[in-house]
Amino acid sequence: MSGYRIPFQRLTPEDDRDAITAAIARVVDSGWYILGPEVAAFEREFASACGAAHAVGVGNGTDAIALILRALGIGPGDEVITTPLSAAFTALAVTMIGARPVFADIDPERLTIDPAAVAAAISPRTKAILPVHLYGQPADMDALEAIARGIPIVEDCCQAHLATAGGRPVGTRGVAGAFSFYPTKNLGALGDGGAVITNDRDLAARIKELSNGGQSAKYHHAHAGVNSRLDEVQAAILRARLSGLAAATATRRRLAGVYRAALSGAPVSVLREFDSGHVYHLFVVRTTARPALQRHLADRGIETLVHYPVPISAQPAVRALEPRACPIAARVCDEVLSLPLSPALSEAAVAEIAAAIHDFEMR
Ligand SMILES: *Cc1c(COP(=O)(O)O)cnc(C)c1O
Repeated sequence: MSGYRIPFQRLTPEDDRDAITAAIARVVDSGWYILGPEVAAFEREFASACGAAHAVGVGNGTDAIALILRALGIGPGDEVITTPLSAAFTALAVTMIGARPVFADIDPERLTIDPAAVAAAISPRTKAILPVHLYGQPADMDALEAIARGIPIVEDCCQAHLATAGGRPVGTRGVAGAFSFYPTKNLGALGDGGAVITNDRDLAARIKELSNGGQSAKYHHAHAGVNSRLDEVQAAILRARLSGLAAATATRRRLAGVYRAALSGAPVSVLREFDSGHVYHLFVVRTTARPALQRHLADRGIETLVHYPVPISAQPAVRALEPRACPIAARVCDEVLSLPLSPALSEAAVAEIAAAIHDFEMR
């Protein structure tokens, strides 16, 4: 328990409990726990929900990204251009396969990777471009496609389940999309989980093989793969939740609209919606007085979080690999504040949070 009157989000609302318990019981009784009927059914249902031809369940979102890159033949000596503003796992998926992340700074308003900065970062060693659909808002895919000129685009969709970019599903605009089912995501498991979607049948087959030890057939390891499988229990839980995802996404969008209207004239700036396919994984505002505002809200029982306090390019884990500074991301990391948002949040709570922000006095 967070101890806040209005927690940032509630991961297992009451109305989810029965469906989840039934899904778990079904797997317990089946006696089949790895790569069975639940994973196969979830892969079909998730691909269909995402408008993709294929989905492959994997262990988590980080592995989903790394497996796509590996299946594209990317490895040591190669560069992958990505954003400094994301969960650091985006860039760690690149280092995991021995490649080098190259950071292109973000667009100062959209906060997703800046296509012009990507263009400037392309080198003969660039083997992929890895945009993130941050906070549920799609990156500018039209502009990225225009400058990629044959360099594969791999989409980090870990915060963008069911989002569309320019009217087309995220994950299907590039060669493949990586999803996470970490419990806090728009579609969350009760543990780790992830998936890749793609319209490329061969790529899907290579990823499936790599994720299961590189086995071309049982006990025959054609490639030095990894062990990164989605398990049956999580797949069964995800199937139960997937059926309500479109409605939950509509609720997120509605609550974001309530926030937007209620925050007009408030002493924070609300991020603009650049694409109507935004799925509001997070509702983020900017303020130059973040520590004071966060304290002001906490004093009123309202929990807020920061996504993210440090640009990935400044993290000790990767700084030595990639010394390029990203000044826009650095400034944004000092200003962003994520307000409570989940489908279980009431409009009254949103109104109360907005009123508390109106009461905040800048010092
Ligand atoms: C959550 C997240 C990841 C990592 O997913 P895991 O399932 O935790 O490995 C990667 N990228 C982004 C943008 C994320 O939000």
